[in-house]
Amino acid sequence: MLSYQHAYHAGNHADILKHFVLTFVLKSLNKKENPYTFFDTHSGSGLYDFEDNRSLKTGEASCGIKKLLKALDDTPCFDFPDFLDYIDIVKTYAKKNLYPGSPLIERDFMRSQDFLILSELHPQEIENLRENINDSFYKKSEDSDFPSVMIHKRDGWEMLKALTPPHTKRGAVLIDPSYEESEDYELAAKTICEVFKKWSNGIFLLWYPLLAHRETEINSMLENIKSDVRRVNKNTEIVNLKLCVFDKDRHVEKSLDMVLSDEDKKNPPRLYGSGMIVINAPWKLKENGEKVVEFLKNVISFQSQEES
Ligand code: SAM
Repeated sequence: MLSYQHAYHAGNHADILKHFVLTFVLKSLNKKENPYTFFDTHSGSGLYDFEDNRSLKTGEASCGIKKLLKALDDTPCFDFPDFLDYIDIVKTYAKKNLYPGSPLIERDFMRSQDFLILSELHPQEIENLRENINDSFYKKSEDSDFPSVMIHKRDGWEMLKALTPPHTKRGAVLIDPSYEESEDYELAAKTICEVFKKWSNGIFLLWYPLLAHRETEINSMLENIKSDVRRVNKNTEIVNLKLCVFDKDRHVEKSLDMVLSDEDKKNPPRLYGSGMIVINAPWKLKENGEKVVEFLKNVISFQSQEES
């Protein structure tokens, strides 16, 4: 089933957390001159328009990145440099009413010696991705160029297993499934554990939703990843950052009744936040990431005082 379209959600709270962590990891990889490979298993179309009807319909970008950019205009002294790297790139696109998806953020941060490997299955999204990857709103500095990019119309789980470890040895993967199928939780854990066994110095970034009716699946996915990874190397640095923007309680009521009513099926329980788990996390991601999450909670969360 491929009914998910990221255009409804681009620039929401989940994208902010995911793309901030993504830029942090890319910057840390850029600290060494030697090349690296970055895999994006579920790429989407790479570029989103705030004026698109789907974005206007949900209003998620307005409550997310647009609200954040406005807050930063009012508080220009905000000074987490790692977070500002993400904000700078977003601002470049926002001037044109656009929001960059993960493939364009990766392309813009990576250097000419690096390799970017993207996969996407949706027939329309992959067409859009092929077109968008050639758009260049973001200007590289004089002495730098974009990385080599390969786009596969291919299952992202299968692509990652087939192409790792990369010839560069150094590298990372962003895994950002739409979780349309409940099996995606199990598949994410199984794939990461299988790939980590043969590429134990790779950096793995997995985005996951916070949904009250999926708590069991989410917890078991995270536990399986942590225990399997630590079985291979007990010293592996694992960081799990969570950003909650709505009260969880308001969602639990629905989830207690696992048989959803017809009304609930029309309006399935809402995402109350999301998380990013990072394996082989770079230095200071935990410390700096937690500060950024606290800041974001204050600016874009709708939580009542007791929950936050
Ligand atoms: N990573 C993107 C970003 O941050 O801009 C958003 C990706 S969106 C959440 C998930 C994408 O995965 C959708 O475009 C969907 O069509 C695609 N997809 C779903 N199942 C897939 C699979 N098995 N392999 C590759 N892509 C898949």
